[in-house]
Amino acid sequence: MQMNTAAALLRAESLRKSFGSQQVLKDISFDLRKGETLSLLGPSGSGKSTCLRCLNFLEKPDGGAVFLEDKRIGQVPARRGGLRLMTDTELAPQRAEMAMVFQLFYLWPHLSVRDNVALGPIKSGGLSRAEAHALADEMLDKVHLRHKADEYPERLSGGQQQRVAIARALAQRPKVILFDEPTSALDPELVGEVLGVIKELAEEGRSMILVTHEIRFAREVADRVIFMDGGHIVEQGPAAEVIDRPQMPRTQAFLHQVGGAASPRG
Ligand code: ADP
Ligand code: MG
Repeated sequence: MQMNTAAALLRAESLRKSFGSQQVLKDISFDLRKGETLSLLGPSGSGKSTCLRCLNFLEKPDGGAVFLEDKRIGQVPARRGGLRLMTDTELAPQRAEMAMVFQLFYLWPHLSVRDNVALGPIKSGGLSRAEAHALADEMLDKVHLRHKADEYPERLSGGQQQRVAIARALAQRPKVILFDEPTSALDPELVGEVLGVIKELAEEGRSMILVTHEIRFAREVADRVIFMDGGHIVEQGPAAEVIDRPQMPRTQAFLHQVGGAASPRG
Protein backbone atom coordinates (compact mmCIF):
# COMPACT_ATOMS: atom_id res chain seq x y z
CA MET A 1 0.00 0.00 0.00
CA GLN A 2 1.13 3.54 -0.73
CA MET A 3 2.07 6.04 1.96
CA ASN A 4 -0.60 8.60 2.73
CA THR A 5 2.04 11.27 2.66
CA ALA A 6 2.93 10.63 -1.00
CA ALA A 7 2.04 13.64 -3.11
CA ALA A 8 -0.90 13.16 -5.44
CA LEU A 9 -0.02 12.74 -9.08
CA LEU A 10 -3.56 13.58 -10.15
CA ARG A 11 -6.05 15.43 -7.99
CA ALA A 12 -9.72 16.03 -8.63
CA GLU A 13 -11.24 18.74 -6.44
CA SER A 14 -14.98 19.16 -6.05
CA LEU A 15 -15.83 18.29 -9.66
CA ARG A 16 -19.39 19.12 -10.63
CA LYS A 17 -21.12 18.52 -13.94
CA SER A 18 -24.71 18.77 -15.10
CA PHE A 19 -26.35 17.88 -18.38
CA GLY A 20 -29.41 20.12 -18.59
CA SER A 21 -31.16 19.82 -15.25
CA GLN A 22 -29.51 16.49 -14.44
CA GLN A 23 -26.62 16.75 -11.99
CA VAL A 24 -24.30 13.95 -13.02
CA LEU A 25 -21.28 14.76 -10.84
CA LYS A 26 -21.87 16.24 -7.41
CA ASP A 27 -18.72 17.35 -5.66
CA ILE A 28 -16.30 14.58 -6.65
CA SER A 29 -12.87 14.78 -5.00
CA PHE A 30 -10.11 12.19 -5.01
CA ASP A 31 -6.39 11.68 -5.47
CA LEU A 32 -4.39 9.30 -7.60
CA ARG A 33 -0.90 8.71 -6.29
CA LYS A 34 2.05 7.90 -8.52
CA GLY A 35 2.23 4.23 -9.39
CA GLU A 36 -1.24 3.57 -8.10
CA THR A 37 -4.10 1.75 -9.80
CA LEU A 38 -7.42 3.22 -8.77
CA SER A 39 -10.60 1.45 -9.78
CA LEU A 40 -13.84 3.33 -10.24
CA LEU A 41 -16.88 1.14 -9.66
CA GLY A 42 -20.56 1.88 -9.69
CA PRO A 43 -23.85 1.16 -11.42
CA SER A 44 -24.52 2.25 -14.97
CA GLY A 45 -25.36 5.95 -15.09
CA SER A 46 -23.58 6.77 -11.83
CA GLY A 47 -21.23 9.20 -13.58
CA LYS A 48 -18.05 7.14 -13.99
CA SER A 49 -17.43 7.98 -17.66
CA THR A 50 -18.29 11.62 -17.12
CA CYS A 51 -15.84 11.71 -14.24
CA LEU A 52 -13.02 10.26 -16.39
CA ARG A 53 -13.85 12.64 -19.24
CA CYS A 54 -13.80 15.63 -16.89
CA LEU A 55 -10.28 14.73 -15.75
CA ASN A 56 -8.82 15.54 -19.17
CA PHE A 57 -11.50 18.08 -20.08
CA LEU A 58 -13.01 16.00 -22.87
CA GLU A 59 -16.03 17.14 -20.89
CA LYS A 60 -15.82 20.58 -19.28
CA PRO A 61 -16.72 20.40 -15.61
CA ASP A 62 -19.11 23.11 -14.39
CA GLY A 63 -17.15 23.49 -11.20
CA GLY A 64 -14.09 22.23 -9.42
CA ALA A 65 -10.56 21.66 -10.62
CA VAL A 66 -8.16 18.98 -11.80
CA PHE A 67 -4.43 19.06 -11.14
CA LEU A 68 -1.75 16.84 -12.67
CA GLU A 69 1.51 17.16 -10.76
CA ASP A 70 0.06 20.35 -9.24
CA LYS A 71 -0.50 21.85 -12.68
CA ARG A 72 -4.06 22.91 -13.34
CA ILE A 73 -5.69 21.05 -16.21
CA GLY A 74 -7.90 22.76 -18.77
CA GLN A 75 -7.89 26.24 -17.29
CA VAL A 76 -5.42 29.12 -17.34
CA PRO A 77 -5.44 32.57 -15.75
CA ALA A 78 -7.49 34.95 -17.86
CA ARG A 79 -6.11 38.35 -18.84
CA ARG A 80 -8.82 40.11 -16.85
CA GLY A 81 -8.37 37.94 -13.81
CA GLY A 82 -10.01 34.68 -12.89
CA LEU A 83 -9.63 31.61 -15.06
CA ARG A 84 -10.60 30.77 -18.60
CA LEU A 85 -10.96 27.45 -20.37
CA MET A 86 -8.02 26.42 -22.50
CA THR A 87 -8.52 26.07 -26.23
CA ASP A 88 -8.30 22.58 -27.71
CA THR A 89 -4.81 23.43 -28.99
CA GLU A 90 -3.71 24.46 -25.50
CA LEU A 91 -5.32 21.32 -24.08
CA ALA A 92 -3.72 18.84 -26.49
CA PRO A 93 -0.40 18.39 -24.63
CA GLN A 94 -2.24 17.99 -21.31
CA ARG A 95 -4.58 15.42 -22.80
CA ALA A 96 -1.58 13.48 -24.10
CA GLU A 97 -0.38 13.15 -20.51
CA MET A 98 -3.64 11.40 -19.63
CA ALA A 99 -4.18 8.75 -22.27
CA MET A 100 -7.65 7.25 -22.52
CA VAL A 101 -8.60 3.72 -23.48
CA PHE A 102 -12.28 3.39 -24.33
CA GLN A 103 -14.72 0.54 -24.55
CA LEU A 104 -14.55 0.82 -28.35
CA PHE A 105 -11.08 1.05 -29.79
CA TYR A 106 -11.42 3.50 -32.69
CA LEU A 107 -8.42 2.23 -34.67
CA TRP A 108 -7.91 3.60 -38.17
CA PRO A 109 -8.95 0.82 -40.58
CA HIS A 110 -6.68 2.02 -43.39
CA LEU A 111 -3.54 2.04 -41.25
CA SER A 112 -1.46 -0.91 -40.17
CA VAL A 113 -1.29 -1.74 -36.49
CA ARG A 114 2.19 -0.18 -36.31
CA ASP A 115 1.00 3.02 -38.02
CA ASN A 116 -2.02 3.24 -35.72
CA VAL A 117 0.32 3.23 -32.73
CA ALA A 118 2.91 5.53 -34.36
CA LEU A 119 0.45 8.17 -35.58
CA GLY A 120 0.11 10.13 -32.31
CA PRO A 121 3.86 10.33 -31.63
CA ILE A 122 4.44 11.58 -35.21
CA LYS A 123 1.55 14.09 -35.25
CA SER A 124 1.85 15.55 -31.78
CA GLY A 125 4.93 14.03 -30.18
CA GLY A 126 7.33 15.44 -32.76
CA LEU A 127 8.94 12.08 -33.49
CA SER A 128 10.28 11.14 -36.91
CA ARG A 129 8.59 8.27 -38.69
CA ALA A 130 11.48 5.94 -37.90
CA GLU A 131 11.52 6.93 -34.22
CA ALA A 132 7.76 6.54 -33.96
CA HIS A 133 7.89 3.11 -35.58
CA ALA A 134 10.57 1.99 -33.15
CA LEU A 135 8.46 3.28 -30.26
CA ALA A 136 5.36 1.57 -31.69
CA ASP A 137 7.17 -1.77 -31.91
CA GLU A 138 8.34 -1.39 -28.33
CA MET A 139 4.79 -0.67 -27.13
CA LEU A 140 3.36 -3.50 -29.24
CA ASP A 141 5.83 -5.76 -27.45
CA LYS A 142 4.29 -4.71 -24.14
CA VAL A 143 0.87 -5.85 -25.28
CA HIS A 144 2.34 -9.00 -26.89
CA LEU A 145 1.38 -8.04 -30.43
CA ARG A 146 4.62 -7.12 -32.11
CA HIS A 147 4.09 -9.98 -34.55
CA LYS A 148 0.90 -8.22 -35.74
CA ALA A 149 2.56 -4.86 -36.47
CA ASP A 150 2.06 -5.13 -40.25
CA GLU A 151 -1.53 -6.37 -40.06
CA TYR A 152 -4.59 -4.19 -40.48
CA PRO A 153 -7.07 -3.87 -37.60
CA GLU A 154 -9.86 -5.80 -39.32
CA ARG A 155 -7.66 -8.89 -39.33
CA LEU A 156 -7.40 -8.79 -35.54
CA SER A 157 -9.80 -10.05 -32.89
CA GLY A 158 -11.55 -7.54 -30.62
CA GLY A 159 -9.18 -8.41 -27.80
CA GLN A 160 -6.17 -7.84 -30.03
CA GLN A 161 -7.61 -4.55 -31.27
CA GLN A 162 -8.08 -3.36 -27.71
CA ARG A 163 -4.47 -4.32 -26.95
CA VAL A 164 -3.40 -2.20 -29.96
CA ALA A 165 -5.43 0.66 -28.49
CA ILE A 166 -3.55 0.19 -25.22
CA ALA A 167 -0.22 0.24 -27.11
CA ARG A 168 -1.37 3.44 -28.80
CA ALA A 169 -2.12 4.96 -25.38
CA LEU A 170 1.29 3.87 -24.07
CA ALA A 171 3.02 5.43 -27.10
CA GLN A 172 1.81 8.84 -25.89
CA ARG A 173 4.12 8.27 -22.88
CA PRO A 174 1.29 9.38 -20.62
CA LYS A 175 1.64 10.10 -16.91
CA VAL A 176 -1.75 8.55 -16.27
CA ILE A 177 -3.83 6.05 -18.22
CA LEU A 178 -7.62 6.28 -17.95
CA PHE A 179 -9.46 3.08 -18.85
CA ASP A 180 -13.22 3.31 -19.41
CA GLU A 181 -14.65 -0.21 -19.34
CA PRO A 182 -11.94 -1.55 -21.66
CA THR A 183 -13.39 -5.06 -21.77
CA SER A 184 -17.12 -4.34 -21.89
CA ALA A 185 -17.44 -4.62 -25.67
CA LEU A 186 -15.47 -7.86 -25.92
CA ASP A 187 -16.65 -11.42 -26.30
CA PRO A 188 -16.17 -13.14 -22.93
CA GLU A 189 -13.34 -15.35 -24.17
CA LEU A 190 -11.32 -12.25 -25.17
CA VAL A 191 -11.61 -10.39 -21.87
CA GLY A 192 -8.77 -12.26 -20.17
CA GLU A 193 -6.02 -11.23 -22.60
CA VAL A 194 -6.87 -7.53 -22.18
CA LEU A 195 -7.09 -7.78 -18.39
CA GLY A 196 -3.75 -9.61 -18.47
CA VAL A 197 -2.10 -6.66 -20.19
CA ILE A 198 -3.70 -4.18 -17.77
CA LYS A 199 -2.45 -6.24 -14.85
CA GLU A 200 1.10 -6.18 -16.25
CA LEU A 201 0.89 -2.39 -16.52
CA ALA A 202 -0.29 -2.18 -12.91
CA GLU A 203 2.61 -4.37 -11.82
CA GLU A 204 5.01 -2.10 -13.73
CA GLY A 205 3.86 0.71 -11.48
CA ARG A 206 1.92 2.71 -14.04
CA SER A 207 -0.53 5.24 -12.66
CA MET A 208 -3.99 4.26 -13.83
CA ILE A 209 -7.68 4.80 -13.26
CA LEU A 210 -9.79 1.88 -14.31
CA VAL A 211 -13.55 1.97 -14.71
CA THR A 212 -14.69 -1.62 -14.86
CA HIS A 213 -17.46 -4.05 -14.05
CA GLU A 214 -14.86 -6.78 -13.50
CA ILE A 215 -15.06 -6.64 -9.71
CA ARG A 216 -12.80 -9.59 -9.06
CA PHE A 217 -10.17 -8.09 -11.32
CA ALA A 218 -10.42 -4.75 -9.53
CA ARG A 219 -10.05 -6.59 -6.21
CA GLU A 220 -6.91 -8.29 -7.48
CA VAL A 221 -5.20 -5.44 -9.33
CA ALA A 222 -6.36 -2.11 -7.91
CA ASP A 223 -4.66 -0.51 -4.94
CA ARG A 224 -7.72 1.52 -4.13
CA VAL A 225 -11.36 1.52 -5.13
CA ILE A 226 -13.89 4.30 -5.38
CA PHE A 227 -17.55 3.33 -5.41
CA MET A 228 -19.78 5.92 -7.08
CA ASP A 229 -23.55 6.15 -7.17
CA GLY A 230 -25.78 8.96 -8.35
CA GLY A 231 -22.86 11.31 -9.00
CA HIS A 232 -21.45 10.91 -5.48
CA ILE A 233 -18.50 9.01 -4.10
CA VAL A 234 -20.26 6.68 -1.68
CA GLU A 235 -17.20 4.90 -0.37
CA GLN A 236 -13.49 4.64 -1.09
CA GLY A 237 -10.54 2.79 0.33
CA PRO A 238 -8.13 -0.10 -0.23
CA ALA A 239 -9.58 -2.51 -2.81
CA ALA A 240 -9.72 -5.45 -0.43
CA GLU A 241 -11.54 -3.42 2.20
CA VAL A 242 -14.16 -1.84 -0.04
CA ILE A 243 -14.85 -5.00 -2.03
CA ASP A 244 -14.69 -7.59 0.77
CA ARG A 245 -16.12 -5.48 3.59
CA PRO A 246 -18.14 -2.61 2.12
CA GLN A 247 -19.45 -0.31 4.84
CA MET A 248 -22.22 1.51 3.03
CA PRO A 249 -25.55 -0.15 2.19
CA ARG A 250 -25.42 1.09 -1.41
CA THR A 251 -21.98 -0.43 -1.94
CA GLN A 252 -23.13 -3.66 -0.35
CA ALA A 253 -26.21 -3.81 -2.56
CA PHE A 254 -24.22 -3.12 -5.73
CA LEU A 255 -21.55 -5.73 -4.99
CA HIS A 256 -24.20 -8.24 -4.07
CA GLN A 257 -26.05 -7.57 -7.32
CA VAL A 258 -23.00 -7.94 -9.56
CA GLY A 259 -21.78 -10.94 -7.59
CA GLY A 260 -18.47 -9.28 -6.83
CA ALA A 261 -18.35 -9.78 -3.09
CA ALA A 262 -15.41 -12.09 -2.42
CA SER A 263 -17.04 -13.77 0.54
CA PRO A 264 -20.45 -13.83 2.16
CA ARG A 265 -20.92 -11.03 4.60
CA GLY A 266 -21.21 -12.06 8.22
P1 ADP B 1 -21.56 5.72 -16.21
O1 ADP B 1 -20.29 5.80 -16.99
O2 ADP B 1 -21.34 5.53 -14.74
O3 ADP B 1 -22.52 4.72 -16.77
P2 ADP B 1 -22.10 8.32 -17.35
O4 ADP B 1 -21.07 9.24 -16.82
O5 ADP B 1 -21.93 7.82 -18.73
O6 ADP B 1 -22.30 7.14 -16.31
O7 ADP B 1 -23.50 9.02 -17.31
C1 ADP B 1 -24.05 9.59 -16.14
C2 ADP B 1 -25.36 10.23 -16.49
O8 ADP B 1 -25.14 11.34 -17.33
C3 ADP B 1 -26.33 9.32 -17.25
O9 ADP B 1 -27.62 9.58 -16.79
C4 ADP B 1 -26.16 9.76 -18.68
O10 ADP B 1 -27.33 9.55 -19.40
C5 ADP B 1 -25.87 11.24 -18.54
N1 ADP B 1 -25.01 11.75 -19.63
C6 ADP B 1 -23.74 11.37 -19.89
N2 ADP B 1 -23.23 12.05 -20.93
C7 ADP B 1 -24.22 12.89 -21.35
C8 ADP B 1 -24.31 13.88 -22.38
N3 ADP B 1 -23.27 14.12 -23.20
N4 ADP B 1 -25.47 14.53 -22.51
C9 ADP B 1 -26.51 14.30 -21.67
N5 ADP B 1 -26.49 13.41 -20.68
C10 ADP B 1 -25.34 12.69 -20.51
MG1 MG C 1 -19.59 4.68 -18.58
